[in-house]
Amino acid sequence: MKEFWSEKIRNITPYTPGEQPKNRKLIKLNTNECPYPPSPKAIEAIRVEAGDALRLYPDPECTLLREAIAEREGLDAGQVFCGNGSDEILAFAFQAFFDPGREVVFPRITYSFYPVYTDFFGLKRREVPMNPDFSDPVELLCGNNGGVVLANPNAPTGIAVGLDTVEKLLAANPDVVVIVDEAYVDFGADSAVRLIGRYPNLLVVQTTSKSRALAGLRVGWAMGDENLIAAMRCVRDSINSYTVDRLAQAGAAAAVRDEGYFQSTRRRVMDTRTWTEEALRARDFTVLPSRTNFVFASHPGRGGKELLDSLRAQGILVRWWKQPEIENWLRISIGTDEDMEALAKALDSII
Ligand SMILES: *Cc1c(COP(=O)(O)O)cnc(C)c1O
Repeated sequence: MKEFWSEKIRNITPYTPGEQPKNRKLIKLNTNECPYPPSPKAIEAIRVEAGDALRLYPDPECTLLREAIAEREGLDAGQVFCGNGSDEILAFAFQAFFDPGREVVFPRITYSFYPVYTDFFGLKRREVPMNPDFSDPVELLCGNNGGVVLANPNAPTGIAVGLDTVEKLLAANPDVVVIVDEAYVDFGADSAVRLIGRYPNLLVVQTTSKSRALAGLRVGWAMGDENLIAAMRCVRDSINSYTVDRLAQAGAAAAVRDEGYFQSTRRRVMDTRTWTEEALRARDFTVLPSRTNFVFASHPGRGGKELLDSLRAQGILVRWWKQPEIENWLRISIGTDEDMEALAKALDSII
């Protein structure tokens, strides 16, 4: 096996995406997708774009989408860069801003793509232990780093830090880029976007995958100083100038402009999250304070893997990691009210 593989590929452990089952009957609480459909305006925009225009390459600069984002966030379009999901944005950013000589730092319990990127791009990393309550070890991320990556809110813990803390991090790492990954920010945390302009080392990353119900469209973006955006463009145009296709640009721009729909879906998810937290605590679970569309929970009498398997046997998928610090924890995405009632019922029969 692995004959013809490059040295680099032979030695890499890639990211493991959450299962996408063919069986539609399963209740899918394992990949933090939105349980509600995308904005009807996004669907319509995609439909309109799905015609003769597909003969032509898309706009490599994603101009209309960038303008929609810039307008909503109070930025210039030159402070926005769009990509094929925020995973691509992160991959570009690691290459644009980090050098092999110095360590990139991030919390030990966080998005498991970050260590894959440091390995793949030949970067050193330092993974900083969490505080005992699983909050981000912000002090340990300050000072003399080769770069910082902070998911805020964090995943899979769901915990968010305040903007004062993000500012502390930016001020303590003035000579390197601090990436703030805000995949879940719309579910109750404060965005660092408003710090752009004051901190030339800040790159904020967001996505349409979670709060805009468009995980299947693959659109994410970075926001920051024009200097950082130019570096992102430099990486992209050295790999593939057309990473965001026409359908994706049209659909994402319409979704970003449909503020009313966005507000109502994220509100529904947050309401169901409150119900879910209460239902889990009533069943003796410890639940971390979530600012995301998932909860991270642990039961005193049942191991994480055991719960994962028992729930799966009842048709409910959740996420679990074979990692010592969190092996008794499950990450459970917030589904519809009916999904979460089914979860509670299944737990009653298991526990
Ligand atoms: C889901 C997620 C992403 C990836 O989002 P895409 O835009 O779908 O690539 C990035 N960061 C975190 C922390 C996530 O949970």
